Amino acid sequence: MHFRKKKIRKSDTGMEPIQMVDLRRQYRKIAAELETRWADILAQAAFIQGPDVARFASNLADYLGVRHVIPCGNGTDALQAAMMALGLQPGDEVITTDFTFAATAEVIALLRLTPVLVDVSPDTFNIDPAAVERAITPRTRAIVPVHLFGQCAPMREILDLAHRHGLYVIEDACQATGAEYTFPDGRRCKAGTMGEIGCTSFFPSKNLGCYGDGGALFTQDDRLAGKLRQVVNHGMKVRYRHDEIGCNSRLDTLQAAVLDVKLPHLDAYNAARRRAADFYDRALSGCEWLKTPVRAPYATHIFHQYTLRLDDAIDRDALQAALKEAGIPAAVYYPVPLHKQKAYRDARYRDGDFPVAEKLCDSVLSLPMHTELDEEQLPYITENLLRLIKTCLK
Ligand SMILES: *Cc1c(COP(=O)(O)O)cnc(C)c1O
Repeated sequence: MHFRKKKIRKSDTGMEPIQMVDLRRQYRKIAAELETRWADILAQAAFIQGPDVARFASNLADYLGVRHVIPCGNGTDALQAAMMALGLQPGDEVITTDFTFAATAEVIALLRLTPVLVDVSPDTFNIDPAAVERAITPRTRAIVPVHLFGQCAPMREILDLAHRHGLYVIEDACQATGAEYTFPDGRRCKAGTMGEIGCTSFFPSKNLGCYGDGGALFTQDDRLAGKLRQVVNHGMKVRYRHDEIGCNSRLDTLQAAVLDVKLPHLDAYNAARRRAADFYDRALSGCEWLKTPVRAPYATHIFHQYTLRLDDAIDRDALQAALKEAGIPAAVYYPVPLHKQKAYRDARYRDGDFPVAEKLCDSVLSLPMHTELDEEQLPYITENLLRLIKTCLK
């Protein structure tokens, strides 16, 4: 297939336009059920803390195999509430990855804690346990691994370090709802259920996404669950009795209903992403100019993103532009490591301190990834990529 026109429309080729994330086609399949649920909520005007919120939280807890799910306003709030509930104090050091979405470090800094960034593993893009160990000091209180792009961080090593040094583990599972981690003894746990607290986001493009903002906290600990509920509710346990300073972070009822309708499909959604990734792997693994994503043996990768590493010889900007011209969106997650971001730059860090993260920021490229990629779009994407990459040598 070759396109002459710049704008790819369905009428040109019969193929659905390719999007980084296609939420419209996914919505059509659940529209009837969701519209009934929304009509009920609208009729009852149960917009805040309606019955769907508790129902969804309970269903998600069952799915994850976790004692408590505490819904909140978004993934960033979840991370913040986790650090507040654990009683972290200004000056406490929190170790996290240099290669992530900034929200992870943002809340650490916002609470006047000290973010301590560390490098990642070049194959999985996830936090490197050896680097975490080197970064531990007497002031360290917590580790925040991010299950990046839908693949669990090496939790056994991280939990082991945390136990040995008396640290909390707060999992940033915003990109990994439904991903699994397998411990060496064969025990399998869902992302976000292994540390003291797990945090997730229901931003529309996440693996389990709503139609606005949403988030949740997970914990196995009854006392922490109570604390988290209090933190996200203005520090109240009893109405109008504020025992401590909290915040206001709620999942609204309309969003809870979206999530409750989608939850039974989550495994199928993640399997569809894995099938698309399998296709990409098969089609692209022979190409000398790129590396396909590495799947760690301990993780069930659910491909929030399908992220290639391009060879140094490839001009990434030129390739991205050529793909765009062919109607194929591609994105760079993330172009700048945290230690080079203006907001998080710090005298402690120098260029070259995190060579893997820096290198990844210069060489990664993510392909379209969602639940609706079809058998016309996938070969169209890989055939064009293989053709165009050869024209983008530096
Ligand atoms: C999306 C995301 C967040 C923030 O979630 P929001 O719901 O947008 O606040 C935090 N961390 C990571 C790794 C994310 O991908």
